[in-house]
Amino acid sequence: MEQIKSLEEIQNFKGKYPKQLWSLFFSEMWERFCFYGLRGMLTVFMVTELMMGDKQANLQYGATQAWVYAFTFIGGMMADKILGFKKSLFWGGLLMIAGSVILMVNPQLNFFYGIGFLIVGTGFFKPNISSMVGQLYKNDDTRRDAGFSLFYAGINLGAFLGGILMIGVAQGEILEKYIPIEKRWNFAFGLVAVAMIISLVVYFVTNKNLGPIGSSPLKSVVGNDGKVGLNKKWYEYAVYLGTLICVPLIIKMVSNTVYTDYFMYIIGPFSLIYLIFEMTKLGAAENKKLIAAFIFILFSVVFWAIFEQAGGSLSLFAKDNLEGKLVGFNPNQINNSANSLFVIAFAPLLGLIWIWMANRKIEPNGVVKFGLGFLFLGLCFFIFSWLRTTDNGFGKASLAIFTFGYFVVTIGEICLSPIGLSLMTKLATPKLQGFMMGMWFLASAYGQYVAGLFGASISPNENATPSEKLIAYCTGYNQFAWYAIIAGILIIAISPFVKKLMQDVK
Ligand code: GLN
Repeated sequence: MEQIKSLEEIQNFKGKYPKQLWSLFFSEMWERFCFYGLRGMLTVFMVTELMMGDKQANLQYGATQAWVYAFTFIGGMMADKILGFKKSLFWGGLLMIAGSVILMVNPQLNFFYGIGFLIVGTGFFKPNISSMVGQLYKNDDTRRDAGFSLFYAGINLGAFLGGILMIGVAQGEILEKYIPIEKRWNFAFGLVAVAMIISLVVYFVTNKNLGPIGSSPLKSVVGNDGKVGLNKKWYEYAVYLGTLICVPLIIKMVSNTVYTDYFMYIIGPFSLIYLIFEMTKLGAAENKKLIAAFIFILFSVVFWAIFEQAGGSLSLFAKDNLEGKLVGFNPNQINNSANSLFVIAFAPLLGLIWIWMANRKIEPNGVVKFGLGFLFLGLCFFIFSWLRTTDNGFGKASLAIFTFGYFVVTIGEICLSPIGLSLMTKLATPKLQGFMMGMWFLASAYGQYVAGLFGASISPNENATPSEKLIAYCTGYNQFAWYAIIAGILIIAISPFVKKLMQDVK
């Protein structure tokens, strides 16, 4: 039997990647399979099975996604203070399995119950597995970025497969001969449960390799008899119990988007006040870096609000306003998966381009790359809005051009998302690492929330003809394109100021 390794031994690995990265890679791959598979089905399910209108489905989508990301902030904090990453991950995985089984049994009836469990479960799983990747490396290890790139590829591999398979099963594109029509949604949601069980089994079998990484931060009190005292356990039980109490509360709040509004009004200001409180304890140089991080966080809200139309309005747009198939895939499958496939294919290429530019001393700095992310986002939404000119007379536009739009937005995502993660770790002080990463994800929560509002604001009314729907969505996308371009120009314009705040951080 292999001996449990110490942190020192794990971090002193030879070669490009630590072997523990692979277990985290596969666990996260299967978790993202569930997340993106579900995301791609949400609005379609709400409109076709729960009989919601486009507008309500968009709002509900935004609320659901906002809760998922807001809970990563709470899941991350609980791991930092009580459970540690390992137990948080396991607990999150169990809750996700519970949620997907509830959905599989009767998705129409149990929709919000299943979603409630999945929200809380993802909150415990998602931020903490990423934090564990970071712990595989020493502070100054230059192989860390390559490790995160590989991990990001795992995220997108899962997203790609989940996005293609689940909606494919639900819409009768895959296994249609074997699954009775009335059971298609049950099977699609059942896939979420199967994938999550695989994720957890992979993690269970391999997590001993992680040695002390992710253990609970609480110290055990050992009594005279050598037994571990109960106080540490009580804290853990309190988290488990607290989580279970939270679930019905979240089910109530997520099913009524007005409560989501209240929650979003409170959680952002709360995190900001906490940040200001922490800043009062720090020197000017550290505070300047935190202000720079906060500027990135604020801009990222705008980015995700537009980018995340993917799971909301673009999902409905794909269902109603795109024609035919591309390389055998229907518009919803393309909408759910093209982005991930492009990330897997082009992230390494963009990495090579940055190195090529760095050798010629023309590589843009992190702030400018962030701005470029917005410009590509804007360009993509101009392409989406241009689709109205390709109407075939029945309100159906070109799937090929739509797919090209996804290629463009993916370049934008690669310029912004991984760079943002790495900037957070570089700009935060050691004691605020978890918190700033939490704020980065909270920005995604706000982005998702605004994405729902944006989507609802442009959604056509229920009796609109397909051509009217096409025009309504394309006009809205044109508006979003301008928001993205303005944000991109703004951040590039203020980049000298932000660079000054960042000081030695590149
Ligand atoms: N696509 C990435 C992931 O799923 C980033 C998502 C986000 O931060 N909004 O991890």
